[in-house]
Amino acid sequence: MEFNDLALFITGPTYIRPEVRLAAALPEFGHRDTEAATRFDPIFHGLRALAGLGDDPAADGYHLALVPGSGSNALETLIRSLVADDETVLNISVGAFGDLFHNIAVFNGKKHVQHKVTPGQAMDLEVVEALLQTERPAVVTMTHNETSTGVFHENIAAFCALVRRYGALPLVDGVSIFGGVAVDLPAMGCAGYATATQKSLALPAGVGICFVSQEAVEKSRQVKNKGYVTDIVRHLERAAKHQTLSTPSTSLANQMAVQLDYILRVEGMQARFARHLRLRDQAHAFAAGLAGFELFAPEGCRSPSATAVQCPSSMTAADLKALKEAMRARGFLFDTGYMKMNTALEAAGAPPVFRIGHMGDITEAMLSAFLEALAEVLAPFVRR
Ligand SMILES: *Cc1c(COP(=O)(O)O)cnc(C)c1O
Repeated sequence: MEFNDLALFITGPTYIRPEVRLAAALPEFGHRDTEAATRFDPIFHGLRALAGLGDDPAADGYHLALVPGSGSNALETLIRSLVADDETVLNISVGAFGDLFHNIAVFNGKKHVQHKVTPGQAMDLEVVEALLQTERPAVVTMTHNETSTGVFHENIAAFCALVRRYGALPLVDGVSIFGGVAVDLPAMGCAGYATATQKSLALPAGVGICFVSQEAVEKSRQVKNKGYVTDIVRHLERAAKHQTLSTPSTSLANQMAVQLDYILRVEGMQARFARHLRLRDQAHAFAAGLAGFELFAPEGCRSPSATAVQCPSSMTAADLKALKEAMRARGFLFDTGYMKMNTALEAAGAPPVFRIGHMGDITEAMLSAFLEALAEVLAPFVRR
């Protein structure tokens, strides 16, 4: 069979380096066998290091569980494990992925309150505080990096401290940013932090990654109706031995071990984070050169892993779909933006937003080549 090998500049899944592609062909293994440790010990070590943690959960008070599935499975595990039946969960949504976290609570029958922020804006801690006072939630969810709008929240520590001041547990969705920026869970104070393999970690999808604090684990022991594969306590019993609760993809485990070793020992975490900031700046410089186009996220809240660009009023979502095909012909997969949001923007008389995914292992040279091609296909729409 022959498949088209496009360079992915979407916001996940992302480009996978040749070395990581090949790692999928490394030997399969038994997930309860001693051989499993050769894969999972470096995986646990690497993921914990990226979260600002050492190897011993008892020492820094944070536990890690790998949940077969994807980011959504990790989010559902946090909701089912940490929101009791008689409690309310408050969801702060700044876009489509904030809505996903909310919907997971709704579909699991949790008592819920949602606060929706206008797409393209960031959360406002004063508004969050007012909601904490009126709604008295037991758990508050929010999104570290809103992939649909390119909004990145730098102020997670302040958010978590505020939520804790009102006696609630802060849960953070870090799916599209973990591995692309420095995360220090003890300093940030999250009770739960969820991410996945196929975004800034530059791996195939297949594992949801859940970090939980010691106090969250203790709370979860009291929560009922957690399900079988969504109970963080059950996951952690296996995770204590660096195993998964159910059978993992052994190909993905091989790839994760290889990739985390690369991130820590070849590229280096700090170099990786610095590269993401340079990619962001490169995308911003490109957008600044397009007369009539605007960055969608506000200054100070612009994502290091994905840039959202609002088109001039002359452009439609249909134009973006045509651009995608023009980019495919040039070997790139272009991201036409979050379609539901673009439909809503157009219904309100506003132009659509496209995204440039620059997360994971994308290099500056790769992004340059992509932006050069994008400049060509966008040229007819740029104001002169
Ligand atoms: C992609 C994404 C998700 C959904 O994750 P899946 O791995 O597709 O289940 C959740 N939150 C954010 C912020 C995302 O970018």
